[in-house]
Amino acid sequence: MTEHQQSVDIAIIGAGPVGMTLALALAGGPHRLRLIDVRPRGAWSGDPRALALAHGSRQVLQGLQAWNLDAATAISTIHVSQRTGFGRTRIDASDYGLPALGYVMRYRDLAAALDARLEDSVFLDNCSVQGIRNDDTRALITMRRADETWRITARLVVHAEGTPGHDADVRVCDYHQHAVVAEVRPTAPHGHRAWERFTGDGPIALLPLGHDYSLVFTVPQAKAAELLELDEHAFLAALRTRFADRMDFVACSPRASFPLALRIRRQIAVGRQVWIGNAAQTLHPVSGQGFNLGLRDAWELADTLLGMAGNDAGEAAGLAAYSRRRRIDRSGSAAFTDGIVRVFANDLAPLRCARGLGLLALELLPPLRHFVARRMIWGARAWL
Ligand SMILES: Cc1cc2nc3c(=O)[nH]c(=O)nc-3n(C[C@H](O)[C@H](O)[C@H](O)COP(=O)(O)OP(=O)(O)OC[C@H]3O[C@@H](n4cnc5c(N)ncnc54)[C@H](O)[C@@H]3O)c2cc1C
Repeated sequence: MTEHQQSVDIAIIGAGPVGMTLALALAGGPHRLRLIDVRPRGAWSGDPRALALAHGSRQVLQGLQAWNLDAATAISTIHVSQRTGFGRTRIDASDYGLPALGYVMRYRDLAAALDARLEDSVFLDNCSVQGIRNDDTRALITMRRADETWRITARLVVHAEGTPGHDADVRVCDYHQHAVVAEVRPTAPHGHRAWERFTGDGPIALLPLGHDYSLVFTVPQAKAAELLELDEHAFLAALRTRFADRMDFVACSPRASFPLALRIRRQIAVGRQVWIGNAAQTLHPVSGQGFNLGLRDAWELADTLLGMAGNDAGEAAGLAAYSRRRRIDRSGSAAFTDGIVRVFANDLAPLRCARGLGLLALELLPPLRHFVARRMIWGARAWL
């Protein structure tokens, strides 16, 4: 068995979009980096998701020269309604003097744009982490890569490996829902309008993507299996029914499903380790906040690390400052998203009525609508 030893300043575990954003934001700085992934480089090319990216995220990606304009579809209007009740609202980019409220991009196109900006020498793929040990001055990561053993010492280990498994420090709230995702082709052009529709089973989002919509169809776990088994015709009919036959579709891509839960890490910096992106908090996709929030984690961590006076990236005071900086954004985004799921996931008649009133209030009270819109456009800055 071959052994490799290496010493770096920052080891990032997880080369998903958040890990790659951090690596890119730090590239060209003083730190020696390693970006480690358990899967082969480019494994993201099979990911079926599309992501709604906030206007603020576009600005960050553009700053990193990782904005793929051709792969992005602008959202100019968001229409929010509920299936069995009154009330609806519309949020328009023109009210905010912006070209778009946000953009929709396939996960794989986003990952490809980030990957293309990174040096090959940063990546270490197909690596399975066996253990991480901390001492006062560094962390030691032991990994297996085929028949090789790798030992990497790092001043700082950043966890960006996505949704955590069982971990005593992670609070979990299982929504017992699955998101069925696909791309569906409408009979009429989408006109850059996104639809968010709340139904008794869960929210449904249709996001403009090229000439199609990216669909996120949230249902209880058992119904997800049924939806996956339907033939294309029956699946599209089920979708049409949810929109009271006001929309029609002609084709659908292969479908996939994701289990949904809120997972929030209590402490995001411990010793020489820090957690960002889904590894720090995994949210329900209903409000399209997950990656946008993870991007802000990566951006603010890079800003903290580049601003540190000494050359120890894992220095406790810096990591504590980073934790404090992220507190409001993390808890605010999690509470906002969880609140929407709870209020809208329940189909009891009084709640339906309350929801209708809420949607009506959003429509009639511009300040309230602006608050929600700003949250979608800018994320946490809407609170400040
Ligand atoms: C259906 C659905 C729709 C969504 N829609 C939106 C949306 O519209 N807008 C939005 O902002 N967010 C959305 N999200 C959330 C978004 O997908 C995530 O927040 C985002 O992918 C998190 O990126 P990440 O890099 O932290 O984690 P991931 O994307 O999960 O990447 C993690 C990486 O770490 C690697 N890895 C895993 N385990 C290990 C290990 N042990 N060692 C090394 N490497 C490892 C993986 O191979 C992967 O490359 C949606 C999520 C779902 C499920």
